[in-house]
Amino acid sequence: MKTKAAVVRELNQLTIEEVNLDPPKSYEVLVRMQAAGICHSDLHTYKGELRATPPLVLGHEGAGIVEAVGAEVAKVKPGDRILVNWLPACNHCTACLRGQGNLCERLPRTTLQALLPDGTTRLSTTDGIKLKHYLSASTMSEYAVIDQASVIPLPDDVPFDVASIIGCAVLTGTGAVLNTAQVPPGSAAAVIGCGGVGLSAIMGCKLAGCYPIIAVDVMESKFTFARDLGATHTINSRTTNAIEALRELTHGGPDFIFDSVGAAVTIDQALRGVRPGGTAVIMGMHAAKVDVPISPAVLVAQNKRLLGSFAGSSQPHLDLPHFLQLYRAGRLPVEKLVSQRYRLEELEQAFHDMEAGKVARGVILFD
Ligand SMILES: [Zn+2]
Ligand SMILES: [Zn+2]
Repeated sequence: MKTKAAVVRELNQLTIEEVNLDPPKSYEVLVRMQAAGICHSDLHTYKGELRATPPLVLGHEGAGIVEAVGAEVAKVKPGDRILVNWLPACNHCTACLRGQGNLCERLPRTTLQALLPDGTTRLSTTDGIKLKHYLSASTMSEYAVIDQASVIPLPDDVPFDVASIIGCAVLTGTGAVLNTAQVPPGSAAAVIGCGGVGLSAIMGCKLAGCYPIIAVDVMESKFTFARDLGATHTINSRTTNAIEALRELTHGGPDFIFDSVGAAVTIDQALRGVRPGGTAVIMGMHAAKVDVPISPAVLVAQNKRLLGSFAGSSQPHLDLPHFLQLYRAGRLPVEKLVSQRYRLEELEQAFHDMEAGKVARGVILFD
């Protein structure tokens, strides 16, 4: 079949074009996408800053309606609503058996290289170039073929745009607070970077009973979103020394700092900013190809903890249904994160808006 999709043929080259999509194999599902979240990871991939290389179809956050299923697929049927899980763990490798599905040994060979879990692709351009599936998902397309491990059933009362964001920003940001850091109630917390992941960490801190919850960003426009989602204080690190301001607000530094940016400067702010004995959690991948110097005088002599959090240390098949429940109970106001909606053709503009700090999270709507 044909589907209109966001194609990256070469780095920094984005086109919205009609491409070929082969039918699902026996263990796969064809989804008619309804919403696709727009994430910094898509932008970084389009610019060649992460591991996946073109040619590929972008998008890894999404929700839609099942159009067709392969013969072995039992958990969904045509017409069902689903959320796309971009971490299709195998459930039988050592990491999966340890309960660390985010570190599944199959992911580096397949999903993180923009292949489907069986190592192949179903997409190609009309002029015959094979296209890869970003994070085994490629949700920025009217239709997507995904492995059944990428399918999470979606309750009827969760809107598609909200669901698409729970699939990545919430999984990563809220997951870092609840799973990676396991913050005790009443902890002082700060979040560096108020994009979708950072704002989701702020929601997680509120859910976990933190106080204060300090939002740190270089763009004043982000603080409205941050306050709306639970931040009690804000620090503009472009005009203020963030580390000094954090110490003043918390009598020596927060217990936990969550860095959603992952740049050398923000990793340093997180590690030096937490109080002695405190915990810095790095969630962002911006500096994936950059080395960050770490001072033993800060890490060792001050007995700090530095934690990496990939996709919120989550087990998506447990955590995504749980986050959907928390949303339905009003405990995670994810709808406030969806601040702008776009058509697929407006993706380039959506990336600009994201870089300019104009949106909490943008979502592409289909239909
Ligand atoms: Zn994402
Ligand atoms: Zn596995």
